[in-house]
Amino acid sequence: MEEEKPKGIAILGSSGSIGTQALEVIEAHADKFVVEVLTVNRNSKLLIEQAKKFKPNAVVIADESKFQEVKDALWEDDIKVFAGADALSQVVEMSEIDVVLTALVGYAGLKPTLAAINAGKSIALANKETLVVAGEIVTQLACEKGVNIYPVDSEHSAIFQCLAGEFHNKIEKIYLTASGGPFRGKTTDDLKLVTKAQALKHPNWEMGAKITIDSASLMNKGLEVIEAKWLFALEPSQIDVIVHPQSIIHSIVQFEDGSMKAQMGLPDMKLPIQYAIAYPNRIFSDFPRFNFMDYPNLTFEQPDRKTFKNLDLAFQALDRKGNAACVLNAANEVTVQAFLEDKIKFLDIADINQQTMEKVDFVAKPSYEDYVQTDKLARIRAQELVLSV
Ligand code: MG
Repeated sequence: MEEEKPKGIAILGSSGSIGTQALEVIEAHADKFVVEVLTVNRNSKLLIEQAKKFKPNAVVIADESKFQEVKDALWEDDIKVFAGADALSQVVEMSEIDVVLTALVGYAGLKPTLAAINAGKSIALANKETLVVAGEIVTQLACEKGVNIYPVDSEHSAIFQCLAGEFHNKIEKIYLTASGGPFRGKTTDDLKLVTKAQALKHPNWEMGAKITIDSASLMNKGLEVIEAKWLFALEPSQIDVIVHPQSIIHSIVQFEDGSMKAQMGLPDMKLPIQYAIAYPNRIFSDFPRFNFMDYPNLTFEQPDRKTFKNLDLAFQALDRKGNAACVLNAANEVTVQAFLEDKIKFLDIADINQQTMEKVDFVAKPSYEDYVQTDKLARIRAQELVLSV
């Protein structure tokens, strides 16, 4: 049998939780993948270390003040070094790249993802905010360019795995599972007192700070509902959320005949990362295996939408359509940052998100420029609300 050529991978956001785990997957399968591009926001030390180890074609450091440091460190390794946010959108066009893994955090992922789709690259999407902000134009462009978007988010990967061989069968409904986060079962009164350290302690998943706070506030599940709508072309009424504290069932698809398929396994982000970049193949992993006797009970409950308002805000944004989800996302990026900087309390996150949604003008059919403008305005409004707390 002929040896397949290794897939060229670009990792946007290689210093983060997804980025570093992706490099572990690639290292374990050096015959199948080759790193072509690595980019980071400002962690120059880790970028240099990763570049020396994986010898990519090019690296980008978004923070231009660190360009010289990276260039000096890599001058004898024959690695191209670029700096600045615009360079992100240029490197993804390199001909050696087959798959672009978008592991940046937040709205910053939108522009380079669109550039990668424009260049005809497959997308392994870990940056859910890209679809939340501008799902309509992103999926439309992917369709025009014949580009596949492979989900890395564990719930969406689960649904994608359940759909293998079922692409022509109608989905009746999907259930996104949620762990409930560290504050599951807490009342609004309890939540008045919770601290940043408590919010940053997720019971099942090891993740970056932004998504961990989003998990505690159920915003993450809200963003995932919107992400699922665009990835799988669903109506909001076809998407449900069920709390499953053990995080073993990663999500469920229910078909027209009532049959349900679930994808299970121990919670480990390396699995969905690996599935996305190796698709359509399943490749070996030595990750720990599930043992039924460690989990004699898998349990399910309804999410508490009254206490954790963010989930409903996401459904409201989906119903409003247009730029509503873009507003919600921008507000949430501001409020999570403010919470991490101790400027607001935990419950202020959802309150300010909600108020921001009421303060930014609605655009029914937004263009890319409208999204850029909406994001800007929503951040200004949210910031004003943060300062007034
Ligand atoms: Mg997820």
